[in-house]
Amino acid sequence: QAKQEGRNHCCVYNEAMEHNAMDSLWLHNELRYAIERNQFCLVFQPIMDARGEVVSAETLLRWYHPERGFISPAEFIPVAENSGVILDIGNWVLEEVCRFVVRMRSSGQDVPAIAVNVSARQFNQSGFAPQLFDLLERTQVASSAMELEVTEYALLNNVDAISERMAALKEHGLHIAIDDFGTGYSSLSYLQSLPLSRLKVDASFVQKIGEDSASDAIVKAVVDMGHSLGLEVVAEGVETKEQLRYLQQLGCDYFQGYLFSKPLAEGDFITYIQRQRQLAV
Ligand code: C2E
Ligand code: MG
Ligand code: MG
Ligand code: MG
Repeated sequence: QAKQEGRNHCCVYNEAMEHNAMDSLWLHNELRYAIERNQFCLVFQPIMDARGEVVSAETLLRWYHPERGFISPAEFIPVAENSGVILDIGNWVLEEVCRFVVRMRSSGQDVPAIAVNVSARQFNQSGFAPQLFDLLERTQVASSAMELEVTEYALLNNVDAISERMAALKEHGLHIAIDDFGTGYSSLSYLQSLPLSRLKVDASFVQKIGEDSASDAIVKAVVDMGHSLGLEVVAEGVETKEQLRYLQQLGCDYFQGYLFSKPLAEGDFITYIQRQRQLAV
């Protein structure tokens, strides 16, 4: 009986694995054509300060496949990272952000700084910083118009190379945030030695606020840690007023999440900023 069950479990497991392998193979193939077939677009999610004003926005990639519909970046970014296609996709995102900023500028629209997610593989390319400087120069976009978000995974590489790259980016006026903070492995002393500007508390921590006193204590520890490292702290995934109140009480600097806005298509994002400005006047 036990043997029988064991075998069945084994089969179920294998089928599931095969399914995943098929899925990533399919994704891998389709991803190669996604750029040229114009299947990507960017959405924008506002980031607010403690007074409720928009200070920046994070741009997030969206993939609409004609047959499969919307595919989440959580699903395709890891595949793209594995196959190396992330380098083309990452470049497309950086270029698209510059085109967006230029488009806004020529229509007389003021936009806040746009935070861009940079994958580990993209960030660890030796040409990353010079190519980005070149792009900004070519498109006449100020460095202050863009911010970068990297996860702790991107920093597991050669310490000296990473420090140097970050220093070059910072000197050029680009702020760097550590994304999904608390979910990775980097040591605090290591983070302290890097020229970072911001730390984004992962949504999984934010969403546990109010659950029990231990969860609240962990969130407080993460926010305090960021401040101890001399960084501004951004909370992501803020969905409730209760979460916001607690984070404000902790002295968290910036807030992002559905409580304020979902990621918005370009037109809706512009409308959102304009409405905000009218309210502020
Ligand atoms: P991330 O950088 O941590 O982005 C935050 C994610 O949380 C986004 O998911 C956003 O839509 C979602 N989110 C925002 N507010 C809330 C909230 O209040 N509640 C909940 N439950 N979720 C919220 P999204 O857009 O699906 O992106 C997932 C991840 O995919 C991103 O995590 C980022 O790691 C990656 N990604 C997205 N766009 C890009 C890109 O252009 N390049 C790279 N390399 N990675 C990207
Ligand atoms: Mg991010
Ligand atoms: Mg994040
Ligand atoms: Mg995330």
